[in-house]
Amino acid sequence: MAGEIVKMGAVDRRRASGSNNRIKRIVIAGGAGFVGSHLCDRLHAQGHHILCVDNLETGRMSNINHLVGDARFEFRLHDVINPLIVEGPVDEIYNLACAASPPKYQIDPVHTFKTSILGALNLLDLARDKGARILQASTSEVYGDPEISPQPENYRGSVNTVGPRSCYDEGKRGAETLFHDYNDRYGVVTKIARIFNTYGPRMNPEDGRVVSNFVVQALSGRDITIYGTGEQTRSFCYVDDLVTGLIALMASPAEMTDPVNLGNPGEFTMQELARIVLDKTRSKSALVYRDLPVDDPRQRRPDITRARDRLGWEPTVPLMQGLDPTIAYFAAELRRNTKEPVRAS
Ligand code: NAD
Ligand code: UDP
Repeated sequence: MAGEIVKMGAVDRRRASGSNNRIKRIVIAGGAGFVGSHLCDRLHAQGHHILCVDNLETGRMSNINHLVGDARFEFRLHDVINPLIVEGPVDEIYNLACAASPPKYQIDPVHTFKTSILGALNLLDLARDKGARILQASTSEVYGDPEISPQPENYRGSVNTVGPRSCYDEGKRGAETLFHDYNDRYGVVTKIARIFNTYGPRMNPEDGRVVSNFVVQALSGRDITIYGTGEQTRSFCYVDDLVTGLIALMASPAEMTDPVNLGNPGEFTMQELARIVLDKTRSKSALVYRDLPVDDPRQRRPDITRARDRLGWEPTVPLMQGLDPTIAYFAAELRRNTKEPVRAS
């Protein structure tokens, strides 16, 4: 099949149009993870049939147990580095399968790279065979350690090909290329969401990302670990806003295949984030400083002009608001799972 141009027929294009409100069958790869489980919930609540595919590497059944057993929800334990065989029609595929936390995706960098590249290939093949639309959960990491701020989609990035983050960054960049080429060569309707740091309930308390680390540390009275000086910045998007953006992007016109930044432009240093978390949890945890991880980006802030103009999307939940349900969630998780003192509810 390599090099052969197979354009989809009119029937396939109609099936992939995504513009109507009919009930669809939707594959969500990585659907047991933090973002994926919220996406499962939202699309299921809209009446769609969900096939959630996950190898449970960082995902948890507890994120989706409430859907298991429902006639419109199916879970399949599967690693996307292997071809995915699905009986019957598929209308849409969301590819969220990939660990997102740096300490997690660095445990087995070769598998992380395979997940992005082989996972994209296998799911793109499924999309082509079924005439389905497909959306890639790409990342702000394609900009690496950016030299400009905010980052618009036409910025090509500053990425190290041979560092501890490269398996993730270059895997995601390669996946974007595959999405572009399957659209160009085979007429698959592809969408690329460049997701910036997202947080909210259902993050794994042991995930290792900054919001989960700081909140769990503050709630359990442990030291807050700031890496480097804490002057590096990130822009934090609440998960509900992201899910709205992903669904809007999937429903956008078929010809809209350019990458789209999805994130909240509110920018904070890690020092500021630590102070906000301490304040909200009324914690007395001390701030301690640890080595800055290699290639840790110094700044990150999305330019969301494209998402605003083309999708009519922008985030609605500021960090100060979104942290409240997030802290309440972690407090409940800690109460369930540990005997450590928990300061706030
Ligand atoms: P997560 O780690 O909670 O979820 C990833 C899910 O993918 C997990 O359920 C995991 O078990 C599954 N998975 C990993 N490798 C797999 C494989 N080979 N086969 C099948 N399933 C596999 O992370 P998240 O925060 O929910 O991120 C979801 C997606 O969004 C990821 O692709 C991530 O790269 C992307 N993203 C997230 C953020 C963010 O801040 N949350 C930012 C940028 C991009
Ligand atoms: N970070 C930190 N303390 C932690 C975890 C992370 O200071 O306990 C920093 C990390 O070095 C980075 C920022 O917080 O500068 C965001 O890290 P995260 O792992 O959440 O995401 P990413 O680096 O992929 O944006």
